[in-house]
Amino acid sequence: MPTVDTKKNPAYDIVIVGGGMVGISLALLLNAQKQWNILIIEAQAMSCEDSADKPTLGAYSSSFDARSTALSWSSRNIYQSIGVWPQLKKHLAPIEQIHVSDRGHIGLTRIHAEEAQVEALGYVVENRWLGSVLLSQLGQADIDVLGSASVETIVALADGMQLGIQQIDKNKQMIDAKLVVIADGAGSSTAKKLGIQSESIAYGQTGIIANISIEKPHNGVAYERFTDQGPMALLPLTDFKGRPRSALVWTQPSDIAASLMVADERTFLDQLQARFGHRLGQFQQVGERVSFGLALTKSSEQVRRNLVVMGNAAHSLHPVAGQGFNLSLRDAATLADSLASATESVGELTLLQSYQQQQAADQRNTVLFSDSLPKLFGLSASAAALGRNSGLLAMDLIPSLRRGFARFGMGMATREAGNKGLGNG
Ligand SMILES: Cc1cc2nc3c(=O)[nH]c(=O)nc-3n(C[C@H](O)[C@H](O)[C@H](O)COP(=O)(O)OP(=O)(O)OC[C@H]3O[C@@H](n4cnc5c(N)ncnc54)[C@H](O)[C@@H]3O)c2cc1C
Repeated sequence: MPTVDTKKNPAYDIVIVGGGMVGISLALLLNAQKQWNILIIEAQAMSCEDSADKPTLGAYSSSFDARSTALSWSSRNIYQSIGVWPQLKKHLAPIEQIHVSDRGHIGLTRIHAEEAQVEALGYVVENRWLGSVLLSQLGQADIDVLGSASVETIVALADGMQLGIQQIDKNKQMIDAKLVVIADGAGSSTAKKLGIQSESIAYGQTGIIANISIEKPHNGVAYERFTDQGPMALLPLTDFKGRPRSALVWTQPSDIAASLMVADERTFLDQLQARFGHRLGQFQQVGERVSFGLALTKSSEQVRRNLVVMGNAAHSLHPVAGQGFNLSLRDAATLADSLASATESVGELTLLQSYQQQQAADQRNTVLFSDSLPKLFGLSASAAALGRNSGLLAMDLIPSLRRGFARFGMGMATREAGNKGLGNG
């Protein structure tokens, strides 16, 4: 991972603004395709000292924080295709079954990996481990990085973009690029500099995440539980010091979440137990709690000549269905495929528009799915409850419905058809 020689005025084929989960993954996908000249600009200090055997801690935390991510089957295939999967594998807990229930109602369904004819419905990884593995791969790749750097200016030129970069304790420098990919997170400040706005609709809910040590082994079961206060998920994690753990994503009205964030450990676990029940036995301990205000955020544009907006900067979703990153990884793989197979310049508008068209249906369906679930299950009126109970019961009774749900969640329904290169293979 060479750093940039700041004395020159460098020109790149592709500059990625934002070295989070999406930015680094895209860089690795591009690098696997062609010998492009690639630079990542990241606001936080970036280092590859973190190895694949040591999780990233603290400093570089906005993407690789205390969260866990459920990777779909399509994400597995994408990482497999660029050699990231073998390193990631030892930190993953496979999801062998998804157990969906509705607190206080009879509807319940289980989805098994065998039904979808795959070894797992998904894989759960702690973001810190994901970060460590991605950074270690980046360290071995011929990709330039500028850490602790911010984009001060970005302007469109006749044949590319020019960025004015300020790095801590360094002089401002200008960098040219044929293509800039903005992947600097929801409400992107870089996109705003180009007049690209983001529309954000708040759910009025806060997601609390934490690792929970549990009494009974999870046996690879991911629990999705819908309650009148919001959905909660407990996803299987790898054991820690021989003790079973699950990763909690607990969505609550923001005022209740605020009090849970400051509650002592016992009170927090008691409240969680009361909402979730005893399927995992007694909850033992809770790790670091982090909260996220939840909103559906979309950028007003995703492509311009010499420009792509990607990841949370393009679409940031409700985490209930665990789809946000998986969708972005499919976007990234499709963009890498499109650029690699093109004969024209990487910044050509028609090329970038064709990428966007290829991903449009996937983005629309995934956004709709992630947006509808919390709304459907947030309704407490009896008709709605009846509707969702019959929905869950129908899913439990009709195997093809369940298979469809599982395949969608795995990202297979969307990435399968149109994929030729790096995807499902
Ligand atoms: C509670 C929760 C649970 C989730 N669970 C799942 C899941 O199970 N499965 C799933 O698929 N998705 C999940 N998601 C969604 C997933 O976390 C996001 O899709 C993912 O983080 C998006 O990554 P990103 O790289 O686009 O943005 P970010 O993670 O926000 O990274 C942006 C990066 O850009 C950097 N940056 C910011 N501004 C600048 C700047 N001006 N210049 C340079 N760099 C900059 C930041 O430092 C950061 O490193 C979850 C989200 C939440 C909140």
